[in-house]
Amino acid sequence: MLNFSFTEEQMYFRDMLKNFAKDELLPHYTRWDREGELPRSLWKKLGEIGVTGLRLPVQYGGSEADCVTAGIAAEEIGRGDFNLTYAVMLNALIGEIITKHASEEIKKEWLPEIASGSKIVGIALTEPDAGTDAAGIKTTAVYQDGVYVLNGEKSGISVATIGDAFIVFAKTDTHLGSRGISTFLCPKHLDGVECKGYEDMGNIPIGRGSIYLNEVVLPEKYLIGEENKGFMQVMNGFDLSRLLIGLQCVGAGLQSLDETIEHVKVRKSFGKPLAKYQGVSFPIVTHYTQLEMIKWQAYRGLWLRDQGLKHSKESASVKWMGPKCSQEAIHECLLLNGHYAYTKEMPLEQRLRDVIGLEIGDGTAQANQMVIANDIIGKEFKSYEKPVTS
Ligand SMILES: Cc1cc2nc3c(=O)[nH]c(=O)nc-3n(C[C@H](O)[C@H](O)[C@H](O)COP(=O)(O)OP(=O)(O)OC[C@H]3O[C@@H](n4cnc5c(N)ncnc54)[C@H](O)[C@@H]3O)c2cc1C
Repeated sequence: MLNFSFTEEQMYFRDMLKNFAKDELLPHYTRWDREGELPRSLWKKLGEIGVTGLRLPVQYGGSEADCVTAGIAAEEIGRGDFNLTYAVMLNALIGEIITKHASEEIKKEWLPEIASGSKIVGIALTEPDAGTDAAGIKTTAVYQDGVYVLNGEKSGISVATIGDAFIVFAKTDTHLGSRGISTFLCPKHLDGVECKGYEDMGNIPIGRGSIYLNEVVLPEKYLIGEENKGFMQVMNGFDLSRLLIGLQCVGAGLQSLDETIEHVKVRKSFGKPLAKYQGVSFPIVTHYTQLEMIKWQAYRGLWLRDQGLKHSKESASVKWMGPKCSQEAIHECLLLNGHYAYTKEMPLEQRLRDVIGLEIGDGTAQANQMVIANDIIGKEFKSYEKPVTS
């Protein structure tokens, strides 16, 4: 059986979010960018309407929704306020890591606050010398008498300035490459943790920045999962976050196309509405076609994940094409709206800046293409491992 329909519950959730995004998010989207801050009240509001706890267990205040439902949230919120989609994507990724691997004490302490939207937790993997090659991180966690001592620098981290804690990846065995990495939950208020924001091109309210860890003492309970298994734990999570990122970008792209379609129906040149000219309608159709195809590949990937089936290559395909095709669609929309869209009065220039960020965040196009190549060509042809010798 092949069934492309959402359940009744999913359709109800989708309609509720569509109205919420239109009435409560979209009218203020550009304001948070100009003011450079993310209103915590809105993140909390997302908690009240069940968005921040979607992938968290019911016993800790979540709703244990399936991945497809999380995708609906990413897409619809992406239409209203791209930056608030981080609440869907980060919470799904972090929620899974904590739920699957953390101690009961950490779950009780953090999950209800994450689910309610009261606390924001980021994910800190990238470092100044290790981005795509994430196994090359240099941050260390040394075990001494019941505590781990963390030292290192994380860079490019979303919510660095506004987060309450971070899932930090550090080497517990410096000789083992990706098999020597462990995961920790590191509250921001601890001595030795310092966060510094960047002046970014987009995603401004998200407060991306660097995190400096200087002799940070973490009690043993903050180790998440087993020592040296951290990398595998996050790699599986990326298969989910990448599908959600694809949908949040597609949401922003489709919203821009909807707004542009309304514009070209009423704006006239040479006595006719712009929509009558195929030089205008065909680019709209091209971008719409691309985004719809990526959207359904994303929902397919989420469905595969819900069934417990393999979905890494589907996820990687959505991650590299979703942000790319969305930013191309938004760019085209900006041009079709004329000079006024080049001002900050309209959301298009901001959407363009915001979406471009996720062509890099959570893995570039090339990083995702490596995942697909490993699957369809074969692991023995990996560029980043020793060539196979006969
Ligand atoms: C908006 C945004 C949000 C982010 N949020 C987070 C976050 O929350 N947490 C976090 O840990 N990180 C985050 N990052 C960092 C992001 O994950 C990294 O920037 C990304 O993985 C790329 O690493 P890099 O910047 O070091 O680039 P590099 O790894 O130095 O790559 C530079 C260029 O070389 C290409 N390249 C590298 N290796 C190869 C290869 N083998 N073959 C072909 N091309 C290659 C890359 O594709 C890229 O184009 C974020 C970044 C952005 C922009």
